[in-house]
Amino acid sequence: MIHKIDLRSDTVTNPTPEMLQAMFAAPVGDDVYGEDPTVNALEEKAAAMFGMEAGLFCPSGTMTNQIAIKVHTAPLTEVICDVTSHIHQYEGGGIAFNSAASTALVHGERGKMTPQQVEAHIRPLDNVHFPETRLVSLENTCNKGGGAFYTLDEIAAISAICKRHSLALHLDGARVFNALAASGDSAKDYGLYFDSISVCLSKGLGAPVGSVLLGSKAFIKRARRVRKVLGGGMRQAGYLAAACIYALDHHVERLQEDHKKAKELEATLLHANYVESVLPVDTNIVIFKLNDRFSDAEFVQALAKQNILASSFGQQMIRFVTHLDITDQMQQHLLQTLEALNEQTVTA
Ligand SMILES: *Cc1c(COP(=O)(O)O)cnc(C)c1O
Repeated sequence: MIHKIDLRSDTVTNPTPEMLQAMFAAPVGDDVYGEDPTVNALEEKAAAMFGMEAGLFCPSGTMTNQIAIKVHTAPLTEVICDVTSHIHQYEGGGIAFNSAASTALVHGERGKMTPQQVEAHIRPLDNVHFPETRLVSLENTCNKGGGAFYTLDEIAAISAICKRHSLALHLDGARVFNALAASGDSAKDYGLYFDSISVCLSKGLGAPVGSVLLGSKAFIKRARRVRKVLGGGMRQAGYLAAACIYALDHHVERLQEDHKKAKELEATLLHANYVESVLPVDTNIVIFKLNDRFSDAEFVQALAKQNILASSFGQQMIRFVTHLDITDQMQQHLLQTLEALNEQTVTA
């Protein structure tokens, strides 16, 4: 019997028994007093991994991004980001609400901005008509770009522009470990280029809750104040941080398996008679467009009959995300179901 195969997102994973054990065993204290040893250990561990000075544990990636933007900007300033980016599209308009800043939107390729595009969006100084550019934010991997990733060379080129114009550079690294697994780049080198990094532990790494914001000691000191204001100061949060430490220790290497499964799905979809096109698959996200054999609603329903959950993006677009709760047996069922849909002419 196949359990539900949930491809809607890599956030749907449940803690493994070993992760739960680590959570139960965690020493804890009041983190608002800075006295939770497990939270402190997570913050130090994540900072060291990325070559940054300090870290701040937060309940969500939205909070780590919004805090970073708040600390880097001031009212009447501007953030350069891709038009599809999570900070602009999926954080509820938080940049305007929390920071009273605007966004300069770049139309990149699959969510990736080129150094030239970034530079072209920097506002001229000394002209009162314009907001003042303060921050550039990259997303790696790019969610809406179907999991496309930046390489270190590309990041270095954008960082050089930021330094030349005295702009801060933030990374929305909700899936940064997928980017590192695919590019082969080292996390440590990121500290050379970014002023702040948001790392999510509850996406591909499988922790139930948690993101860590990384930066200089001075930056994290400011960030800690903003976290308190937003209501993100948690008390015995070490139980959650323990899951995140476990995820960093045990669930990073295995991301390659998710990428391999995503490639297999891509290969099957590329010759399916109900698919019009598939975005290139680089990591664990598979975005494809259906032709007129199924509407996206019919397709999602046909999969649901086989215990498979997928997301429709509307306009015939479907997204699958692979993750650690997709077993090899589930993957076989999935591939067989996608093959069988070639024969299905009656709509769901
Ligand atoms: C999921 C995600 C976030 C933050 O998500 P939370 O649900 O708030 O933890 C930020 N950026 C990207 C690209 C994401 O995919």
